[in-house]
Formats: sequence, C-alpha cells, structure tokens
Amino acid sequence: MNKRGRLWTVSSVNLVLPLVRAYAEGMQEDFLELRAAGDAARALRRRLRLVWQVESDRAGVPPETWDEGVRLAMESGNPELVRLQERIRDAAVRIDRACADLTRDIGEGVTLRSYEFGRFDFPTTDGGPAYLCWQPSDGDRVIHRHEPDLRCPERLASFTTSH
Ligand SMILES: [Zn+2]
Repeated sequence: MNKRGRLWTVSSVNLVLPLVRAYAEGMQEDFLELRAAGDAARALRRRLRLVWQVESDRAGVPPETWDEGVRLAMESGNPELVRLQERIRDAAVRIDRACADLTRDIGEGVTLRSYEFGRFDFPTTDGGPAYLCWQPSDGDRVIHRHEPDLRCPERLASFTTSH
C-alpha cells in the first residue's frame, strides 16, 4: 500500500471523479496521439531504411556500411521524422504535466495504472486494505475494488455503492 497520501472512501472517490475524469480523458487522448505518432515514426524509419538499401545497392555502396549510413541519414533530420518526434515529445510532456496537476489537485497516493484506459487506483482501508479502482468507462461512480496485491484486470469483485 502507499506509504504517502490519503486513504479514500467510496464517497470521497465519487466526489473527485468528475475532476479525475477530465484528466483521465485527456491522458487517453494523449496516449492515442503518442501511439499513433510512434507507429508512424517506426513505419517511416523502416521505409527510409529500405529506400536507403535500394539506393546504396544501386550506387554500389558495400552492404556492410549500410547500417552506419542509415544511422547518419536518420540523424541528419528527415523533416517528417522530426515532426513525428516532436508530436511524441509533446504528448509525453502533456501526460507528465497532467499527472503532476492531478497530484496537486487531489493529493499524493493515487496510482495511475493505465494511460490507455485512464485507470486509477485509490488506496482505501474501507472493508480492509484494497484499491478502489476506476476508469472513465465505469461511469460516474466507483464500482470496482481489488486487493492491493492484485492487478487491475483482476478487479472482478463489484460492490454496491450504498456505503
Ligand atoms: Zn485497479
């Protein structure tokens, strides 16, 4: 369990969920951007390498120097690759900033488990040590909990939100 930060109850989590949702949805968008730009950058690198090999072969450049040639070509700054790297960096900076802002707003101790699903664990001792586990697709109330030593996908035990 977290050594620092507050312990949460179902009602205290429900109170902050609209705020957490705003951050979570922003992180999900940034994660998609990060993944899309990363995929595009990998595809572009593969294409540049293949073009490099074809051109080098045609020019009679010995194959054993191709790796170094590709590396230098990448470093020389293909404009498309540079733009993709900027998109990746910007999205990563936005995610870092969102994490810091969320901590500032609701305090230490809440754990971000997944950018993709916008999933957070709130430590609680309500009903024994556990995490109250929430992601935007769960709706406006926290409805899952799991033991501290279980991972989020094992958050099978739904509970009613009467307490
Ligand atoms: Zn969880």
